[in-house]
Formats: sequence, structure tokens, C-alpha cells
Amino acid sequence: MTHDPDCIFCKIVTGELPSFKVFEDDDTLAFMDINPANTGHALAITRQHWPDVHAMPEAALAATVATAKRVAGALQAELSPDGINLVQANGKGAAQSVMHFHMHIVPRTLGDELKLNWGLTPGDMDAIDALAKRIAARM
Ligand code: 5GP
Ligand code: ZN
Repeated sequence: MTHDPDCIFCKIVTGELPSFKVFEDDDTLAFMDINPANTGHALAITRQHWPDVHAMPEAALAATVATAKRVAGALQAELSPDGINLVQANGKGAAQSVMHFHMHIVPRTLGDELKLNWGLTPGDMDAIDALAKRIAARM
């Protein structure tokens, strides 16, 4: 499996960096975003280091979408948001900041006015940890 030693998401995959993990399988991993755009914001990533959608095989994309769907289901059941966005970015022009393929799973509230290129604001790590455990229990 290919990893990039300088990539933060590869370091999460290998366990070099901690994460609030909610799900993992052979090909993917899901964990909470530490700069949540909204409560419950999670990420689904490939285990292997694929920089973006152009670089990866379709099977890896399909596996990540399947994990994102699973996380979305758990978030819906746990938080009952008004909606959930599954979004992802490819390239700097699309505001991709971590060059390891990932999908955002973002719970939404009617009228939250969240814009596609939200800013990065650190969340409350204790609250994120507690929520990660609730979501993981539903996976
Ligand atoms: P992008 O901007 O590439 O679409 O999304 C990258 C996401 O990764 C951002 O939402 C950012 O908050 C998140 N992120 C960056 N570093 C870390 C980290 O060390 N741990 C976690 N859990 N999320 C991170
Ligand atoms: Zn990586």
C-alpha cells in the first residue's frame, strides 16, 4: 500500500497521528474533522495515498463513497440534521488543502448559510471525541 511520509492523512492511516475514528474497513477510514464546518463534520478517506479523484482507481472511489454513505447514515440517526452534504475537492482551485483523497460528510441545519469553501476553525476536541464515540457505535 502506498503512503506519503509527509501526508497527514497517511499518518492517521498508519496511526502516527491520532484521530477520532468512527469506522474503518480494508480500503477506507472515517474520522471526525478537527475543524468542523458544522457539528458532526466527518471525513472518509482511502487507506492508500491517492492525491485526488484523477489519480485513483474507480474501485477506491467507490469504496470511499460507500464509507461516506455509511457515516452519513450514522450521523443522520444520531443528530437528525436537516440535511447532509457529501462533498470533496480536487486541486488548490477547488480549495483542497490536504492532498490525500477524502470526502467530507457535513451535517446541515436549515439556514446555516454554510458556504462551500468554509474557513478552518478548530473545534472542541472533547465534544468531537464524545460525538465520534456515538457515531462509531451506530456504524
Ligand atoms: P480539504 O480542504 O482538503 O477539502 O479538507 C481537508 C480537511 O481536513 C479540512 O476540513 C481540515 O479541517 C481537515 N484536517 C486537516 N488536518 C487534520 C487533522 O490532522 N485531523 C483531522 N481529523 N482533520 C484534519
Ligand atoms: Zn496520504
